[in-house]
Amino acid sequence: MQYKSLNQKAPHVSFKEAVIQGLAPDKGLYFPVSITKLPEEFISKIEQFNKIDLGVKLLKPYVGDDIPEENLHEIVAHTVNFPFPLVEIMPGIFTLELFHGPTLAFKDVGARFMAGCLSYFNSQQGQLKNTILVATSGDTGGAVAHGFYDKPGIKVVILYPKGKVSDLQERQLTTLGKNIEAIEIDGTFDDCQAMVKKAFLDEELNSLGLTSANSINVARWLPQMLYYFYAYQELKSKNKPIVISVPSGNFGNIGAAVVAQKMGLPIQKLIASTNCNDTIPRFYQKGVYQPTPTIPTLSNAMDVSEPSNFVRILELYEGLENSKMQFNSLSFDENQTKMGLKELWIEYHYLADPHGAVGYMGLKSEMNSNPECLGVFLETAHPAKFAPAIETILEVSPEIPESMKPLFETPIRKHRMKDYNEVKTFLTHLW
Ligand SMILES: *Cc1c(COP(=O)(O)O)cnc(C)c1O
Repeated sequence: MQYKSLNQKAPHVSFKEAVIQGLAPDKGLYFPVSITKLPEEFISKIEQFNKIDLGVKLLKPYVGDDIPEENLHEIVAHTVNFPFPLVEIMPGIFTLELFHGPTLAFKDVGARFMAGCLSYFNSQQGQLKNTILVATSGDTGGAVAHGFYDKPGIKVVILYPKGKVSDLQERQLTTLGKNIEAIEIDGTFDDCQAMVKKAFLDEELNSLGLTSANSINVARWLPQMLYYFYAYQELKSKNKPIVISVPSGNFGNIGAAVVAQKMGLPIQKLIASTNCNDTIPRFYQKGVYQPTPTIPTLSNAMDVSEPSNFVRILELYEGLENSKMQFNSLSFDENQTKMGLKELWIEYHYLADPHGAVGYMGLKSEMNSNPECLGVFLETAHPAKFAPAIETILEVSPEIPESMKPLFETPIRKHRMKDYNEVKTFLTHLW
């Protein structure tokens, strides 16, 4: 598979080049030149595949010959080695729990797949120097740190906004040590993301072998399509149209859902549910793309006002108008998020996290006008990651999973910085 730049001003590259470069030289996002159409027979027999074989079949065309099938199989097997339960919380309404990976959020899948691909490429050419530079609004950092921890030839630098990630999230990225460096930036996630983009275009940093591990990287972005196929495997026999609501921030996960839909997975409608950082919902309502400053919310991993991946969605649908039958974006404020959490807990005894609650609100809203559908909302993080907020709102304490307990006994190691120049100086002295 070849990848083109969505800014159209850079040459096509292979999967391997797209993964290593992250962003194209013309600053565009890489995008596959074609989307694989699945034969109807594949969809009609989909429940016969196990998770790993299905993952390999779906990802193989996007990886092409850059990774032999045997190695791809190994990478996928390691990527999806935890459960993805679809839980029915009331008749016809399901939550797809994506938080059973090692860092308790859905980003583990993308991070592990990318780490597997990059390690394979490194092992092939003996180029033992890659610097993963990544901005996080909360969960990416932990997932990437965990995915790349102790991998030879790779250093990871994580930028995160000061005071805007939860305690558990901060511990996940500041307690590992070894090849993982965490930098606390006095600013917002968008500031962190802007610094990462700037570093990629900074020729003075070329020798670092900088690679992005944000969802702009195709190896982090594409494997997320698997969630939707896994959910469909469970729902297919019910023979009803399916609506899926995805709590969205940078719009990577929902973008992967659109890829699945375009490949032929029967999803009638996708809802990108956001918090009050509502650039895309306003774009859907008013037709004007007008980002406003980022507002901190309970669902901090979605505090993004300029979602990088939205251009990929427009490309997939060939424009805003064309997308409207199959896609919508809805915004919910803090009160509505709390209402969602309360309703799920009090009426259905389901303890969601604030991101899942936003997803639930989006699903409910769509199902009001589409009640015959099966509805799925994604639960993207474990509630324990947001324990203080949940304790205040619901007066219950989410149980901290056993695997997280050591984090509270390990010292935090972080650097504190304000601007790009400081980050750049740090990077030049990294190796
Ligand atoms: C990253 C994240 C999101 C948003 O996903 P995008 O792909 O950036 O839209 C939602 N929920 C949680 C818990 C996350 O960590």
